Amino acid sequence: MAIQNDKKDFVKEVADMEADFPQWYTDVVLKTQLCDYGPVKGTMVIRPYGYAVWELIQKQLDDRIKATGHKNAYFPLFFPESFLQREAEHVAGFAPECALVTHVGKEKLAENLAIRPTSETVICEMYSKWIQSWRDLPLLINQWANVVRWEKTTRPFLRTSEFLWQEGHTVHATFEEAQEETIKMLHVYREFVNNVLAIPVLIGQKTEKEKFAGAHATYSMEAMMLDGKSLQAGTSHNLADHFSKAFDIQFLDKDGARKYAWQSSWGVTTRLIGALVMVHGDRRGIVLPPAVAPIQTIVIPIAAFKPGVTEKAAELCAKLIKAGVRAEIDNRDQSPGWKFNEWEMKGVPIRLEIGPRDLERGVVAVARRDTLEKTEISADAAVPAIKKLLKTIQKDMFKKADSFFKSRIQKVGNLEEMRKAVDGKNFALANWCGCRECEDRVKQEMQATARNVPFEHKPFKKVCAVCGKPAVTTVYFARAY
Ligand SMILES: [Zn+2]
Repeated sequence: MAIQNDKKDFVKEVADMEADFPQWYTDVVLKTQLCDYGPVKGTMVIRPYGYAVWELIQKQLDDRIKATGHKNAYFPLFFPESFLQREAEHVAGFAPECALVTHVGKEKLAENLAIRPTSETVICEMYSKWIQSWRDLPLLINQWANVVRWEKTTRPFLRTSEFLWQEGHTVHATFEEAQEETIKMLHVYREFVNNVLAIPVLIGQKTEKEKFAGAHATYSMEAMMLDGKSLQAGTSHNLADHFSKAFDIQFLDKDGARKYAWQSSWGVTTRLIGALVMVHGDRRGIVLPPAVAPIQTIVIPIAAFKPGVTEKAAELCAKLIKAGVRAEIDNRDQSPGWKFNEWEMKGVPIRLEIGPRDLERGVVAVARRDTLEKTEISADAAVPAIKKLLKTIQKDMFKKADSFFKSRIQKVGNLEEMRKAVDGKNFALANWCGCRECEDRVKQEMQATARNVPFEHKPFKKVCAVCGKPAVTTVYFARAY
């Protein structure tokens, strides 16, 4: 296969990704019309193209959430401010960025209402009414919703005042069952981001400093962006009995004793769209894995005024749609070159070109967005060939991202090596004594944070990379979004 000729750099309004990756990201998400800024600072409009990606994420993740026994429900956006106060760590973690409703019209409310930054409190209040006996357990509920966290610094998709997510909230009879659920959902998330988003992740446990406010333990998946920074792509928390004690969720167990229940919660958000852009993008724009590409194949007639060209292109597009491919034809009055650039920028996995000469020869030109390779296929065999190619692209995109990630993990033995690794856009895998002071020092000296502690951690050196005291575990340090 030949590599497509390098055309003029059409994304010149977009920052150079090597020189200024964060600016490249912002330019690209706006220019591809994934999103726009909302009128209130820190808010974001998810435009139709971006929302179509979210719907594909939602659908495929929702299938997995239901296949593991969970049911969807919807809880209120508002709850009394006092609910936040009931769990000490939870209020400390969420009160500073919680938006409150204080008035309705000119009338001051008797009690302020919190706009949910997360729904543990309101859901637990309801669970305390619904759960009476061991027969009511496990209770496995998921919610798709918006949440509001008034963040000071924001970035489209990655951190906005309001965002969309799903939050699972489960209740169990024992600590062990809650733990099993917590880890199970982490694995569901990992399988989903690997196979649907083509994003490799490191799964592991968050440190005490980085865990969810109110949780007994938090587990995360961490993805590596093209600039070597980490993005927390999803979390799963074992809440133990912290919230059941705060909200009095008790059940009558088989042995006749009243007991507090055990809980988990887990979520992923619209920041996954930001991850897609930052993991797979290139100089020409975004690159979408076929599984979440709103348009998987764009069909472009060449010299459309010539007899038969538009008809043949429309016929092929219809066949693809019938075969289950998300295909569209671009009949706009623009040059083919303009259209190529536009669809490359928007990350459409496959471009098909049909011109008069192709018609005569019974072929179609095929361009892959991920590799920029261009080839020819027989027009008659186009449908099965495209379906196969979409699968290949999906797999190849994961492989490419995975080998990039693996090449950017460095084992480090001391602070100097850690700094070198982090400055060189890598994740640093370090041995660690487990002390908060060492985490704080790394943060202070190189703005890197502990991402997570891998499940299978065999210290490769005996001492902590920061303080030199005996190491108890390994941990990934990285700069993060
Ligand atoms: Zn240490």
